[in-house]
Amino acid sequence: MPYIVALTGGIGSGKTTIANEFAKLGVPLVDADVISRQVVEPNTPALEAIRSHFGNKIISLDGTLNRGLLREIIFSNPDEKKWLNALLHPLIQQETQKQLNQANYPYVLWVVPLLIENNNSHLANRVLVVDVTPEEQIQRTIKRDNISLEQIRNILEAQASREKRLSYADDIITNYTKDTDIQDKVANLHKQYLTLAKIKT
Ligand code: ATP
Repeated sequence: MPYIVALTGGIGSGKTTIANEFAKLGVPLVDADVISRQVVEPNTPALEAIRSHFGNKIISLDGTLNRGLLREIIFSNPDEKKWLNALLHPLIQQETQKQLNQANYPYVLWVVPLLIENNNSHLANRVLVVDVTPEEQIQRTIKRDNISLEQIRNILEAQASREKRLSYADDIITNYTKDTDIQDKVANLHKQYLTLAKIKT
């Protein structure tokens, strides 16, 4: 098992931007968002279980999961949310462990937006938090996703607070809009993680 660095941060903080800088240095990425889509791809047992439970309406015409409808259903129904989580959480954990184990490198960057919210920080050797101001998160997300101020405020409210997330950080990388030295910061962290991975193994 390689050394695991979890990269987390709130919506629009810049996780993808920063993860891409690590990838450019050759670091393998395991992406929690990708895994949560992979476990419900067409022809997976999980998608079939979801179809039997919610009916054919939950599958779009192209055979993929209708995520919007599913989100709507579980938003207003805690029991359905519980059912879905009980189905998906073990599959996501299993697939995550598999991909982390497959990484053929001293350390792996696990990009995991809801690390703190899901109480999963113990699964990583090190937690790297991307920090920005809530104002920047709002501006970037509205610009990127074309959503309303109210929607983004609701999402921010549902996520861990900036203070809580920072309290779990072993390392913090700031990604304020005025920052221009992201590559240097990533290069320094990369050096540090290679050293830490060597000490651990
Ligand atoms: P999410 O969790 O919502 O998927 P994220 O944390 O992965 O977001 P990114 O997708 O990397 O964040 O960045 C969000 C948006 O902000 C993107 O449009 C990106 O181009 C922009 N962005 C990232 N870093 C900066 C920066 N330092 N200054 C200005 N804009 C930035």
